[in-house]
Amino acid sequence: MSADIIDGRSFAAALRAKVAAGVARLQAEHGITPGLAVVLVGEDPASQVYVRNKGIQTREAGMASFEHKLPAETSEADLLALIERLNADPAVHGILVQLPLPAHMDADAVINTIDPAKDVDGFHISNAGLLATGQKAMVPCTPLGCLMLLRDRLGDLAGRNAVVVGRSNIVGKPMAQLLLGDSCTVTIAHSRTKDLAGLCRGADILAAAVGRPRMIRGDWIRPGATVIDVGINRIEEGGKTRLVGDVDFEGAAQVAGAITPVPGGVGPMTIACLLANTLTACCRANGWPEPE
Ligand code: NDP
Repeated sequence: MSADIIDGRSFAAALRAKVAAGVARLQAEHGITPGLAVVLVGEDPASQVYVRNKGIQTREAGMASFEHKLPAETSEADLLALIERLNADPAVHGILVQLPLPAHMDADAVINTIDPAKDVDGFHISNAGLLATGQKAMVPCTPLGCLMLLRDRLGDLAGRNAVVVGRSNIVGKPMAQLLLGDSCTVTIAHSRTKDLAGLCRGADILAAAVGRPRMIRGDWIRPGATVIDVGINRIEEGGKTRLVGDVDFEGAAQVAGAITPVPGGVGPMTIACLLANTLTACCRANGWPEPE
């Protein structure tokens, strides 16, 4: 194996410590505790785990955590009414509605009801538009975490060829916008892309957000490239369940310059960035300087 392993776990721990210090400062200087409200509708097991972890890490950072668990049959109108109450609540600086929502709900309508200033997931169309036009936005947590890891590893990203595989609104598109904002030359690939392997071979930075276990093979990687594997795929192997990424780690690690492992790469960055966004939202709401 030649690639350096990008340790998202320790980077995320350092970021969480920085956020906790920022929270303590706000409490000491202003008597304000940033608050994050997380809304979960239904009983999706993966979502329950995510929501529990978000609550634990929010409290560990010294913030207030408000959890709203609603039954799967909740009406959209009732969910929207809850969001409106959270929008108006001065103790709540960030609001996150855990996706996916039950099929009878219009996820876009729900997300776009969140006050954009409290939209710590960065999924509201106002935040997507602000990001796309290079203005100050709430940036989606997973791609923000990827960007932090890339800057830490590579420094200035300007001029690098970046290929983002996946074009979802929550990962692929904002990832591409962030890389463009850092002056990469960005290509977005998706399920209709021709010669994906050839495209990937031209990438100095390869970000995979597909949801297909080990789809990206070692011989698709340019020697020395930096590989960011966003994928989280649960597979059965040798009678056991394990998590793997969208990249064939063993193969890619022979060729890449650096790679994020799964687990322990991008995953831990997502909640750390959520906490960072909540602190930022609290500072913006009060007109205080934002944390760096
Ligand atoms: P989506 O399913 O919304 O999007 C997947 C994207 O991959 C689509 O744009 C799709 O193309 C593209 N795609 C699918 N098959 C292929 C293919 N054969 N070749 C090229 N492109 C393909 O997924 P998400 O963006 O929500 O998530 C992607 C992965 O990241 C998942 O594994 C998810 O679990 C993980 N994830 C991890 C997070 C973390 O915290 N680390 C957070 C969020 C997601 P098309 O648009 O044409 O259908």
